[in-house]
Amino acid sequence: MIDLRSDTVTRPSAAMLDAMMAAETGDDVYRDDPTVYALEVEAARLSGKAAALFFPTGTQANLVALLCHCQRGDEYIVGQQAHNYKYEAGGAAVLGSIQPQPILHAEDGSLPLAEVAAAIKPDDFHFARTRLLSLENTHHGKVLPLSYLEQAWTLTREHKLALHIDGARIFNAVVAQNVELEAIARYCDTLTICLSKGLGTPIGSLLCGDEAYIEQARRWRKMTGGGMRQSGILAAAGLYALKHNIARLKEDHDNAAWLGEQLSAIGVEVLNQHTNMLFVKVPTEKVDALKSWMQSGDVLISVGPVTRIVTHLDVSRQDLQRLVAHWQAFLQQ
Ligand SMILES: *Cc1c(COP(=O)(O)O)cnc(C)c1O
Repeated sequence: MIDLRSDTVTRPSAAMLDAMMAAETGDDVYRDDPTVYALEVEAARLSGKAAALFFPTGTQANLVALLCHCQRGDEYIVGQQAHNYKYEAGGAAVLGSIQPQPILHAEDGSLPLAEVAAAIKPDDFHFARTRLLSLENTHHGKVLPLSYLEQAWTLTREHKLALHIDGARIFNAVVAQNVELEAIARYCDTLTICLSKGLGTPIGSLLCGDEAYIEQARRWRKMTGGGMRQSGILAAAGLYALKHNIARLKEDHDNAAWLGEQLSAIGVEVLNQHTNMLFVKVPTEKVDALKSWMQSGDVLISVGPVTRIVTHLDVSRQDLQRLVAHWQAFLQQ
């Protein structure tokens, strides 16, 4: 089976499972799980922030990030297609009484700063209080340029806003830009990182920020049900991933680029490819047929008029060769 629906589908490798089995654990709610502590220290070191906190999911880490930055009646500026606006069940509004102010993404995945500036509300009791700009990096595989992040950072300093980056796939940006994480994270106050996407762990995300912020986040994490006990078992997978699975993301990017070229060569319309994501167009009338064709060939893929294909550490070049041959057979029938 080839699974290209998402980079969340990766399974823990034998070596990662060994690391989990060998993990020293404590009770992380009592703050004495040494493996969770080590992971948080490592995330803080890599991001250049003072502290970090381990969460079961990225959704919860993003929610807690928003709950720390914004009070009831505050507002965050966010992308119309951003995960922490569109794909987290409205948690900030439901649980935090925080108003989102969505902005359309530019073609490159950024939020145009003129539009961000125009959306910042003046200090007037008619309006919600604008507190935060939330960016997503990478967004649909697109890497936000460092020059853009620097400008966004300056804008938020001028307007006394905080800047959060949803960096579920931030290490794809790190590898694509060939920089250290700190070179990106210096342009944000807080950052979320998913370990369970391309980094290949079964579970886990991190929120990075300053000491006071992370202490506040610890309270919100407890309140939202994210305080875990012998979570060193899970943190060990995270430590393993940070050590072994970052540099290899380049293979996923190369595979996605290669697949784009191959599909284009057999007549598939490629829309775009960035880092580990490839978007192709499928004629509406062919969608159902291609769906069953892929199923019959043991390929899991979310076929639609715009089909997203995601490469990851459980997909090899050989798997992709098989996919191209299978797709070509479909077009030739
Ligand atoms: C996956 C993802 C998250 C978090 O998702 P979980 O499944 O809750 O871990 C957050 N932001 C983005 C951009 C994501 O892709």
